Amino acid sequence: MSIFTRKLGIDLGTANTLVYLPGKGIVLNEPSVVAVSEQDNRIIAIGAEAKGMIGKTPESIITYLPMKDGVIADYRVTEAMLRYFMNKALKPFNFFKPDVMVSVPAGVTSTERRAVVEAAIRAGAKNAYVVKEPILAAIGAGIPIHESRGYMVVDIGGGTTDVAVISLGGIVSSTSVKWAGNKIDQAIADYIKKTFNLAIGDRTAEEVKLKIGAAVPLEEELRVTIKGRDFIQGLPRSAQVGTNEIVHAIDNELKQIVKAIKDVLAETPPELASDIIDYGIIMTGGSSLLRNFPDLVYRRTGVKATLAEDPLFCVAKGTGIALEHLDVYKKAVLSKK
Ligand code: ADP
Ligand code: MG
Repeated sequence: MSIFTRKLGIDLGTANTLVYLPGKGIVLNEPSVVAVSEQDNRIIAIGAEAKGMIGKTPESIITYLPMKDGVIADYRVTEAMLRYFMNKALKPFNFFKPDVMVSVPAGVTSTERRAVVEAAIRAGAKNAYVVKEPILAAIGAGIPIHESRGYMVVDIGGGTTDVAVISLGGIVSSTSVKWAGNKIDQAIADYIKKTFNLAIGDRTAEEVKLKIGAAVPLEEELRVTIKGRDFIQGLPRSAQVGTNEIVHAIDNELKQIVKAIKDVLAETPPELASDIIDYGIIMTGGSSLLRNFPDLVYRRTGVKATLAEDPLFCVAKGTGIALEHLDVYKKAVLSKK
């Protein structure tokens, strides 16, 4: 690799943004959050610093999750975020403009795709490429996407679940639904509120999910103590909750995710469906780390499901691999500028 062309892969996730440098691996991993001052519309903080402000900011500061629903919700904020992450990742070498590959949700429109390319160029990229996320997740999970057999990748992130069947380097059928980690957190918060009259924030709900959550009841339940505010008396209070209550509380959310998988299976051509039965479903994205999630997918679809290695990093790794072998993956690359 010439030192004059730096290459940079960016997984612009709904929850987390990861930057991958070929030859180095993942060099940056921060929340996709931007804090903006309401008065003058100025960007105050990005990434980890901005996430720390959620729920704690004075009213004059708004925290945005620009990628929250898996689309470019705010162009200006997205550009600022890309610029920040690119500069931070390249700091020691920022003399040369990098070639950048950005993952985009499978459902993006051509306008949104152009917006990402524009934002990357304006943020300082020399060339910007965008590739649909399921393709990158598959590459990062080690799937030989150019084979003529069909593979199903299910990426369950923070804001969206993307289900895709891939064959011969392209997406054969896919869907993207807004049922994923954030909705699971919300369901947990709602359950705690209803059951214990305890108000907890999204971040506490996420912690409960990480500590004790599961997709299928556990024989040996895990338990955690939750601290929140009693919303009748208004005073701080704590309560104990166990895994199997959580499994029940998030059942509807998991059902919606499984439904997305079933919908794509139902519209997959028979030959490819038989490949998927042989090879199984590959799960990527942070929310696929929920305890026993592959087991639930198997129970409800009858198709074996396995967790990819490093599910949180598959898309970022995929951007790096695709950048290093652009010639091989050029068919999967959507647009360049
Ligand atoms: P995105 O690509 O949308 O940014 P990620 O793939 O980074 O999302 O996954 C983020 C989501 O994964 C969050 O909702 C987070 O709570 C969830 N998550 C991360 N680790 C775990 C875990 N061990 N169990 C359950 N959920 C998890
Ligand atoms: Mg993702």
